[in-house]
Amino acid sequence: MAKVNSKAVIVILFITVLLGLLYVCQYYRISLSFEETWKTEKEGSQTIRISHSSTDVHLESPPGLKYSQPSIVHGRTDVVTVTPWLAPVVWEGTFNELLLDSIYKKKNITVAATVFAVGKYIMFLKDFLETADKHFFAGFRVDFYVFTDRLNEVPKVNMAAGRTLTVRSVPSSNRWQEISARRMELIQKLIEETFQNHVDYIFCLDVDSKFHGRWGTESLGGLVAVIHPGYYRDNRSRFPYERRPASRAYVAPGEGDFYYCGGAFGGLVQEVHQLAKTCRNNFEDDAKEGIEAAWQEESHLNRYMWINKPSKVLSPEYLWQDFKQRNPEVLLIRFSGVIKNYANIRPN
Ligand code: UDP
Ligand code: MN
Repeated sequence: MAKVNSKAVIVILFITVLLGLLYVCQYYRISLSFEETWKTEKEGSQTIRISHSSTDVHLESPPGLKYSQPSIVHGRTDVVTVTPWLAPVVWEGTFNELLLDSIYKKKNITVAATVFAVGKYIMFLKDFLETADKHFFAGFRVDFYVFTDRLNEVPKVNMAAGRTLTVRSVPSSNRWQEISARRMELIQKLIEETFQNHVDYIFCLDVDSKFHGRWGTESLGGLVAVIHPGYYRDNRSRFPYERRPASRAYVAPGEGDFYYCGGAFGGLVQEVHQLAKTCRNNFEDDAKEGIEAAWQEESHLNRYMWINKPSKVLSPEYLWQDFKQRNPEVLLIRFSGVIKNYANIRPN
């Protein structure tokens, strides 16, 4: 009897240890898939951990929420609302903002927004910030990061509760192309040096624009691109991609899905980090060979999005241009570039 018992104890112990080992392995596998470790160039061996948590994968709606019944047979038919790789294309009428906001409220997300106001572009900052406070993720925690060389010309704007504004100093430049393109490097560094664990999503926006309508949780996704308002009805042969094979932004004839804006993009912090880092490196490697892509970082972004498909695409409602008449499929203009006199505001 005693013999049987000790055998049984050994078997039970063995099984317990095995189960324990299995559990530990499983735990590490899961946490590895949600957590990325980055080695930054500057900090050498120091690693930055940014937790993905489950921000973008598990959509839990609060119990008891009442909202209009979604239809599976009726919806917008005048526009395409899904890409060939099955990413949603966000148009007015394709989402329920009450439902989406409730889902993301539960996640307690923080959204960061970067905006550059270098040189005379500082004049656009006040309207940008005031309208952003009203329309951009209203009711959510938003951290705005302003990059400027004119620190004492940054306007005082009262932000709603839970929203912050941080100003960062950047050098001036005599070339607008450089100001525009250096944004990728500064976005990459901002993410590496500042965000770590406390920011979930980031959007990078042009300052020479204003919000006119809601831009909120419907825009959240892994990698988010905005369709450029100038080319969305055109054949891709007309898209102003970089066409010289020597450039790292090259897109060959017959390639390319859409033409995306350089003036607005975003997504999960780690996705935007990857994008910014890649575009920056490609831009700098091009420069070493004396090449500057046709539309600077916009060209590199378009090349990146061709290879790395955005998981959510925002319609031109999300970056229109004031000089352009609204097309009938655009039911609502949410964000739009103001009319500007290039000769007056750009340094070259
Ligand atoms: N920018 C800036 N100062 C400059 C030129 C550009 O701050 O002298 C920044 C600013 O945020 C601007 C963005 O770079 O919105 C892109 O440049 P711009 O808006 O002139 O390009 P466009 O939208 O006209 O293609
Ligand atoms: Mn612009």
